Amino acid sequence: MKKVYIILFMLIFCTFAIPIIFTKNTVSGKIQNDTEEIKENTLEEIEMVDYDYKQYDTIKLLHSDTGEIEELPLDTYLLGVVSAEMPANFEQEALNAQALVARTYTIYSIVHNQGKHGDADICDDSGCCQAWISKEDRMARWDEDKRDTNWRKIETAVNTTAGKIITYEGAVIDAFFHSNSGGTTEAPVNVWGGTNYPYLQSVETAGEDAYSQYSSEAIFTKEEFNNKILAKHSDFTIDYTKEDAIKILEYTESGRIKTIKIGNLNLSGVEVRTLLGLKSANFTVTIDGDNIKFEVTGYGHGVGMSQYGADSMAKSGSGYEEIVKHFYTGVEITDM
Ligand SMILES: [Zn+2]
Repeated sequence: MKKVYIILFMLIFCTFAIPIIFTKNTVSGKIQNDTEEIKENTLEEIEMVDYDYKQYDTIKLLHSDTGEIEELPLDTYLLGVVSAEMPANFEQEALNAQALVARTYTIYSIVHNQGKHGDADICDDSGCCQAWISKEDRMARWDEDKRDTNWRKIETAVNTTAGKIITYEGAVIDAFFHSNSGGTTEAPVNVWGGTNYPYLQSVETAGEDAYSQYSSEAIFTKEEFNNKILAKHSDFTIDYTKEDAIKILEYTESGRIKTIKIGNLNLSGVEVRTLLGLKSANFTVTIDGDNIKFEVTGYGHGVGMSQYGADSMAKSGSGYEEIVKHFYTGVEITDM
């Protein structure tokens, strides 16, 4: 009987006590190290998560102004993207969402756009790929008393989302984003033509009107206006005495201009936005004496995540995962 108890005790000891001893040592050792590191780094930088990205460990970044290609660890590159693409005074959860979106955009670019930039994976031109700024340049542009706090928020955003990307049915998504949707995002087919993506649907977000770039105005004289249209369409004519000289013909489902008649031309809202340099294709137009006045809502193409919408959601208590799943329909957040 006694032997049985001894064996039973040994078994229990081996099953529970030994792992506890080892686990405890490991855990307490890590806590101690982390505490020391945090103490050391409080005034400097947060220690970056060292995620193993395997074949995506480094990224070749093309500097569009110099033509030079710089090789950077993925998350180091993302620090420069998040700090270039979103104001650091935005809510932390909005910055986290931006970091996740930027990582997803980067991986999608590497997987799908091979050869677009020669040997480079991506460029630093916001009009082409996504904006990037070096830490030195970024710091120099922030007020001195905000530098450390701002940079820590950027690092926290990249760290919090380290190793994660957004996927739809298991594949990395094309994570478009823009500044301010004006309350409703746009389907990509209305901006670039082609086909729609199931995860890029028009969605509504409250609170974007609280930001100054939600609404803007552009006023042209008739001569300025004509010249801007003529620059692209040499056959353009217009008779301003006619009531329908300028007339909106059709709206997209999101309320942006789909087709507008301007003189003898039928143009898309997106083209008018480009020709006149308007902030979005969501506008009203009035002819007022010698002037043509556009009142514009939102900023950017309107597809995917609205950055100001993300900040507005974060202010209302949404976390970054909720924000991302709001702007990209039916997606998952997946470890790479
Ligand atoms: Zn590019």
